Amino acid sequence: MAWVVGLTGGIGSGKTTVADRFAAKGIDIVDADVIAREVVKPGSQGLDAIVARFGALALNHDGSLARAWLRERVFSQPDDKQWLDDLLHPLIRTRMIQACADAQSQYCLLVVPLLVENNLMTLADRILVVDVDPATQITRTLARDQVSQQQVQAILAAQASRQQRLDVADDVIDNTHTEAELDRQVDALHHTYLTLATQANA
Ligand code: ATP
Repeated sequence: MAWVVGLTGGIGSGKTTVADRFAAKGIDIVDADVIAREVVKPGSQGLDAIVARFGALALNHDGSLARAWLRERVFSQPDDKQWLDDLLHPLIRTRMIQACADAQSQYCLLVVPLLVENNLMTLADRILVVDVDPATQITRTLARDQVSQQQVQAILAAQASRQQRLDVADDVIDNTHTEAELDRQVDALHHTYLTLATQANA
């Protein structure tokens, strides 16, 4: 069982950028977003259950999940949102635990954008928050994605606050500066985590 660092942060804070740095050091990455897609891929128990409830409307022509349709549906029907969360959250949680258990590196990085919102802190031995101010989150997301400022602001408002994340953090990466400065922080944390993982596994 690998020692687990849970990585979280708001939209556009730099989670992927940080995770890539740890991956380059040979650390196994478990990505909640990837797992969330796997549990509803064609042939999965998750997709079968969704089709049993909503019918073929929930499917694209190629048999994959019609995400946009489902998003609209659960947005307008709170009961359906609850049902979907009750279905998918345990599937995702179980897979994340399994993937961390299978990790081969000295510790593993579990990337969970909604760690705080979904109260998944207990999955990690240590919590690392990537922190930037909201203005930087918005600027970087607008530079990266084809979205409006209003859309980014709506997502920010729906996520946990900066303070809520900082409240659960064991470690914080301040990603307001250059990527070179980010590298320095990742290097220092990597050494700390190697020491802590060695102690935990002794
Ligand atoms: P999301 O939750 O929206 O998927 P994220 O937290 O994974 O986002 P990234 O995609 O890693 O965030 O970073 C957001 C954008 O900001 C990317 O285009 C990335 O290249 C850029 N970025 C990250 N860190 C820095 C930095 N220190 N300086 C400048 N740009 C940065």
